[in-house]
Amino acid sequence: MSTQLNASMILPPARLGMLGGGQLGRFFVIAAHEMGYQVTVLDPDKNSPAGKIADTHICASYDDQVALKALADTCQAITTEFENVPAASLSFLAKTLPVHPSANAVSIAQHRVSEKQFLHSAGLPIAPFAVIQQADDLPTDDNDIYPAILKVARFGYDGKGQARVANRQEAQLAFAEFKQEECVLEKMLKLDYEVSVVLARDLQGNISAFQTAENSHLNGILDVTIVPARGSDAINHQAQKLAALVADKLEYTGVLAVEFFVCNGELLVNEMAPRPHNSGHFTIDACVTNQFEQQVRAITGLPLGSSRQHSPAVMVNLLGDIWPEDVKGMQTPEWALAFNAPQLKMHLYGKLEARVGRKMGHFTIVHTSRDDAIKLAMQARADLKIGE
Ligand code: ADP
Ligand code: MG
Repeated sequence: MSTQLNASMILPPARLGMLGGGQLGRFFVIAAHEMGYQVTVLDPDKNSPAGKIADTHICASYDDQVALKALADTCQAITTEFENVPAASLSFLAKTLPVHPSANAVSIAQHRVSEKQFLHSAGLPIAPFAVIQQADDLPTDDNDIYPAILKVARFGYDGKGQARVANRQEAQLAFAEFKQEECVLEKMLKLDYEVSVVLARDLQGNISAFQTAENSHLNGILDVTIVPARGSDAINHQAQKLAALVADKLEYTGVLAVEFFVCNGELLVNEMAPRPHNSGHFTIDACVTNQFEQQVRAITGLPLGSSRQHSPAVMVNLLGDIWPEDVKGMQTPEWALAFNAPQLKMHLYGKLEARVGRKMGHFTIVHTSRDDAIKLAMQARADLKIGE
């Protein structure tokens, strides 16, 4: 399939609507601006990173009817940067203008139970799990699901809303602590390592995937991403194929991230995100077209850009943890050493307040050699006292 420029495409200087004002929205605004589009951001936080640089920031909640009407009246296409936007708001906007990803895709991805059920029925390999709606649903100790992880079905991210449990009694305690919110209980797996694939799928169903990324986490939050992943080419290729299958089955339009576990040499789908992804930030510095430009292209009906990666890359997250304790938000970490590395590309999101676990920025090392990129990234990571 190929796409020609045509009249149904939304061309610059059209105005695009972004639901969500975090760093993913901010990078979207930057990409859209580079291409000559205007952006309106809807986010209830007056200091949201994307709202601050958008052409217009509507500071209101995601289900505010007046705000949604204003978006519908002024924008030509709508997208989102986080999966917890109410599906009803997307459906409302979709009555009068293109909304990508669809309310359906977002509502599947925003609920761990529907996500697991979707992946399972699509024939994708996933970890053994049980749906927990009430305490009685918790499997008994003879079930080989234990040790397991209890995960709340909604609003969990960066390891939040998760508890590791060795048996039914611990699971009961954790379920009570989660206020008996619907959960999934997932078998705790011994992971070889983790990977993700970020891809874009356009209105015609063309898919352009970035290379498979290898991810390591610290305290449940992404810490380091190495691309291409160091596993076998076969695994890397298979991950891209499975991610494409997820996108096709969802009839997805936009940027989609699929996270995988590699377990005994096999891929299992962990979860998906209906938006650009932290593990795709390397694309800003290492690819012909980055994940945010692909999002702009997918939602406006433009042909997707080349996802070719011109250099191996290593991305390291900068969390609020490394900001000085006493004067959070006032001082910054010791950047001097990091800025001394010529291959290091620094990205800070303009957040005014640092908190433990809060994503404040990231850096990417691009280098002709992946091994050297890893060495330089680990050195800069140590210089910034990350993970200490
Ligand atoms: P989040 O929405 O917080 O990203 P995830 O389900 O991806 O939630 O879990 C965060 C991290 O916790 C994973 O990337 C992985 O490192 C670890 N993890 C999650 N589920 C399992 C599991 N079943 N077995 C082993 N580790 C897991
Ligand atoms: Mg995850």
